[in-house]
Amino acid sequence: MNANDLQTPITYLKGVGPNRAQLLQSELGIGTYEDLLYLFPNRYIDKTQYYKINQLQRSSADVQIVGKIIHIKTVEQKKGKRLVATFIDDTGEMELVWFRGQKWIRENLKLNMPYVIFGRCNWYNGKFSMPHPELELLTEHDKGLKVAMQPVYPSTEKLGNSGITNRVISKLLQQLFLESNGKFMETLSDTLIHELKLFSKSDALFNIHFPKDQTSLAKAQFRLKFEELFFIQLQLLTKKMLRKQKIKGYNFDQVGELFNDFYKNHLPFTLTNAQKKVIKEIRADLGSNAQMNRLLQGDVGSGKTIVALMTMLLAIDNGFQACLMAPTEILANQHFNGIRELLGAIGVNIALLTGSVKKSARTIIHEQLESGELHILIGTHALLEDKVQYKNLGLAIVDEQHRFGVAQRSKLWHKNEIPPHILVMTATPIPRTLAMSLYGDLDISVIDELPPGRKAIKTVHRYDSNRLKVFRFIRDEIKKGRQIYVVYPLIQESEALDYKDLMDGYESIVREFPLPDYQISIVHGKMKPADKDYEMERFVKGETHIMVATTVIEVGVNVPNASVMIIESAERFGLSQLHQLRGRVGRGADQSYCILMTSHKLSAEAKTRLETMVRTNDGFEIAEVDLRLRGPGDLMGTQQSGILNLKIADIVKDNDILKTARWYALKILKEDPSMESPENLVIRHTYAQMIKHSRIWNYIS
Ligand code: ADP
Ligand code: MG
Repeated sequence: MNANDLQTPITYLKGVGPNRAQLLQSELGIGTYEDLLYLFPNRYIDKTQYYKINQLQRSSADVQIVGKIIHIKTVEQKKGKRLVATFIDDTGEMELVWFRGQKWIRENLKLNMPYVIFGRCNWYNGKFSMPHPELELLTEHDKGLKVAMQPVYPSTEKLGNSGITNRVISKLLQQLFLESNGKFMETLSDTLIHELKLFSKSDALFNIHFPKDQTSLAKAQFRLKFEELFFIQLQLLTKKMLRKQKIKGYNFDQVGELFNDFYKNHLPFTLTNAQKKVIKEIRADLGSNAQMNRLLQGDVGSGKTIVALMTMLLAIDNGFQACLMAPTEILANQHFNGIRELLGAIGVNIALLTGSVKKSARTIIHEQLESGELHILIGTHALLEDKVQYKNLGLAIVDEQHRFGVAQRSKLWHKNEIPPHILVMTATPIPRTLAMSLYGDLDISVIDELPPGRKAIKTVHRYDSNRLKVFRFIRDEIKKGRQIYVVYPLIQESEALDYKDLMDGYESIVREFPLPDYQISIVHGKMKPADKDYEMERFVKGETHIMVATTVIEVGVNVPNASVMIIESAERFGLSQLHQLRGRVGRGADQSYCILMTSHKLSAEAKTRLETMVRTNDGFEIAEVDLRLRGPGDLMGTQQSGILNLKIADIVKDNDILKTARWYALKILKEDPSMESPENLVIRHTYAQMIKHSRIWNYIS
């Protein structure tokens, strides 16, 4: 069947009436033959075995039995009714039970006819019973395609209740294969198929739905996973290539006076090797005539700011302006103050633009930007406003990128005639393999080394019952002149409750650490921004000893004198959030601590999170554990990239296939960029079709 025929509406398939078509569409998004063909099973069940009723075990898994129904009755129960059928074979008797879809089932069940039933058995009231079994008349069963591994398709309650069972889906697929003679257009080149010993497309599709045995299933899965990942990589790499060819970039060919002066005379410390390496990578981009689009990953405290600053100096040296955008006012302020201090007297004009900058000051900033008098603009998303126009913006840096949406970032692209160079900085470590897929069209730099002399943060886990000891510890640290964070979870769903926890906690801390000896700040999401900033400022300036807060302080805040981070109800935070929070301390010369407070009730997963935090400070290691615990779905940024739309491959488990796919995609694009050779035509054609029918996800621009 060729690709166009696969676009046939599913109603044309024998066995699909308007009703079914509508349900398939609304429940599974199946509108065409192709959609059905690409509805891959979630799992497979070995159906080579048959059981007798007297062989059933109380803890049995899914079983398949041949027998017949001799009686059906409806039983009233407290809530609603259930339908119970008595099912027998030559060794005994059991019950089949339905709670849903009773009418349909009652009308369709046939008494005293041999059935094959399949499902999980329960031991209930001294009998075995099977709720909602799959069942099929033995005569039908024998007619069906013989498969050893029974596929289990995604389903919904509504589908089940309407009689579109797993078996029905399988039947529809049989019909589809019948109509198409099981022949589907090849989508990969002969070379790939040959070199990787892949199943043909037709064989792969057949065996994914009707596997002959384990080996064929594995081969089918490999082929389809490879194909899926291959075309995604091809798309990402093509995009990257096009950007490099077509999107001209401003050429920063000189390393000029400012950069050199700063490097020689004003650098407050020696750069780490990782920082040097990253600056080199950036410089290569900036001199390549193409637009830079680079993601800079570096754990909290790894020193991304100085890299940003030196990149901005390169821009200015080449006659361009630069901007730096941060997600919050606090952070923008901090960047502004920090960078102004670093720059000292080297003659760079820099301004801060946030929501709270007064109109009069704003007007001046706008004017100076347009005249070119201002070299560097730092701020929040106020920078994105249309009124903010530059004379010649050459570089835009975005800090903590996951806080910004794709649309916001793309606005930066349009702040000059040809798009400025873009550097995106993130402290959320993303395991390399995932980054490759998530940001496959960006270049990636990593700062994988902390500045020397940092003392590793000591992390401990304490139960609530040890609170008095923890208070004593806080008192000692404050005596030494340190400051303390106490963080409470605030999670949308239970906001009222969380808020109460926070206020209770605050009160108990105020009781324990009373005025006038102790000053305490509090910051939470319900406060007005101005009040928040005021409280934050007091803590930053060292006027308060303890900062009680919700996770609003999570991102980027830098108070080097704060050396203790206490996280309340730590079991309720995700790993990456715990790590981000911990990164608020350990920024000064003193030994820092992170104390994870929890109750005694902990889930296994929560225990793993806490143990991981206690064991390591390495953000990448933590990210790997996080990925294993949660899957990629919850990681920052994955939602927007649509990485979850993968049909068969798993971005974590199929890491090796991903690497292979990327390697081949790269090779093909290098040898034959427009895929014009006869050999690659099939790939080019598939790729075009996929884009046309948006079968590959759309990526960050
Ligand atoms: P982040 O990557 O979290 O943004 P920062 O840029 O804020 O980290 O740097 C954290 C701290 O480390 C700052 O106080 C900065 O001055 C300091 N720092 C950065 N690089 C070095 C270095 N090479 N040597 C010593 N200190 C450094
Ligand atoms: Mg930072």
